[in-house]
Amino acid sequence: MIPQNIKHEDIIKAIKQIQSNGVPDKRHSTKFSLLHEGKVYPPKYVLAIANIYANGHELPAVGFSGGNEANSYLENLGFEIVQESSSSSFKPITAYSWEQISETIAVKHSDKSTFLHNGTVIPQGIREFFSLDVPSMDDEVALTLFYAGSEYKAKVTLSNGRTRLFWSESLAEVLRRQFPDCYESFKDNAGLEGKSPVLRFEKYAHGYPQHYNLEFVSRSDVQQDIEGEMAEEEAFPEGAPKEYYGKRYERNPANRMRAIEIHGTRCKGCGFDFEAVYGERGRGFIEVHHTKPLYLNQKEQTVDPVKDLLPVCSNCHRMIHRRKDDVMTIEQIQKMLS
Ligand SMILES: [Zn+2]
Ligand SMILES: [Zn+2]
Repeated sequence: MIPQNIKHEDIIKAIKQIQSNGVPDKRHSTKFSLLHEGKVYPPKYVLAIANIYANGHELPAVGFSGGNEANSYLENLGFEIVQESSSSSFKPITAYSWEQISETIAVKHSDKSTFLHNGTVIPQGIREFFSLDVPSMDDEVALTLFYAGSEYKAKVTLSNGRTRLFWSESLAEVLRRQFPDCYESFKDNAGLEGKSPVLRFEKYAHGYPQHYNLEFVSRSDVQQDIEGEMAEEEAFPEGAPKEYYGKRYERNPANRMRAIEIHGTRCKGCGFDFEAVYGERGRGFIEVHHTKPLYLNQKEQTVDPVKDLLPVCSNCHRMIHRRKDDVMTIEQIQKMLS
């Protein structure tokens, strides 16, 4: 039985805890997930942890069912339960401030050591992403990181059983220059929770071992982009486009942030990279297109940032929406440009 005094706020606290501690191997769910701000969590484990906040102890796994019982309890509290898509067998791995999103993508929430010590610990769960076979690993493994068209050297070291990633001083300088406020705050030991950028690592294609594309994804950039778009529309009320296709999903900061963490900031239609063309003014910028037409179903719908939200440049985005009764798919745009 699920204790009926577990409340919405207890679930939120449990999600926060899972975000920092991850999910133990045996507690991943196979069929259903709790979807919250674009990320998925195992419903039964969330409830087990939420019980700590409601009743002072973790709920034993044998005490209640992970299927209907857990799902409907969470739905009654206003959470969304989604069915796991069978198309992808990869289960996201969360370990401390890291999350491996897919076979080829991992994100790291930056922290003090990212800004002050030119590096970060690679927790055990993330070692495989960096192809690190620790028992037989040399003292040092060389890595190449690409950021905004430039190449930077990095290395992974092993000492006292801990693996650490360090990057060159030149990349550290770029990071400090791009996010001066974060750097200053970390130097002063000021709290910055959730405000510092996410480092997004994407593995290169086969044939390039230990090559990673790096992007900085910043929540405040995302927020500013949304505000910028809305301010522009307010200035031209007569010309404001009709909200018939998902703008409210495209403009939800959590969704947008998650879509960029997953898909990166290059246009899915034409490959355009704002930062490569506009320099720092373009850093982290991309529009996000919601692929499900809303006029077919005006009810609130579940948004899966993996499938439903795609980063596109402003040109491709306008072309996609140019005819309101003939909205293009991303495949159509790609074909048009190939
Ligand atoms: Zn494009
Ligand atoms: Zn769109």
